Amino acid sequence: MVLKVDYQSLTDRRPNADICLKCGVCCVANDFFCHAQFDTQFDPKNTFVYNCLEPDKPEENPNIWLCVSCHKCEEACPYDVSPVEYIEATKKKAFDKGNSHAGIIGEVDAIISTGFAFPITSSTVRTRDRLGLEPFQPDAEDLKVIAKKTGLSDKLEEIKEGSQ
Ligand code: SF4
Ligand code: SF4
Repeated sequence: MVLKVDYQSLTDRRPNADICLKCGVCCVANDFFCHAQFDTQFDPKNTFVYNCLEPDKPEENPNIWLCVSCHKCEEACPYDVSPVEYIEATKKKAFDKGNSHAGIIGEVDAIISTGFAFPITSSTVRTRDRLGLEPFQPDAEDLKVIAKKTGLSDKLEEIKEGSQ
């Protein structure tokens, strides 16, 4: 068995992700396809996971944001590498360095502001009304407190200011 991934200290301990054999099984095995593998830039010789683990500074690789954390690769890997844990740790490192994808920043901002990951438009309101559903009641007060206490809201503001 290859070394078990240490989620907490992964990116500091293994900056080059040498834990992975780069066999490609996690991306191309039947019934465990990684959806990102279907992007035209990846093929069985240069899989999505390989692309995420291979760079010297993986947190600067924009492709890490293609991962939706479905954990299929973790189930498929025969060596307990769990690439998704590495990719998630890499995303955190990217976020801490202000390197996040703009879409992710917008999504986090929306969740903290409204409690929803998507904008509530007038079309949303009309569609819910037409379907006889209860109107949305945005309530993110608890989320705002959590984001403040964990430092997330300050970090978000710092990133947004840095991108202006
Ligand atoms: S994560 Fe596992 S299955 Fe995927 S390429 Fe590395 S060793 Fe192979
Ligand atoms: S967790 Fe990420 S890398 Fe793994 S199969 Fe899902 S999308 Fe692909």
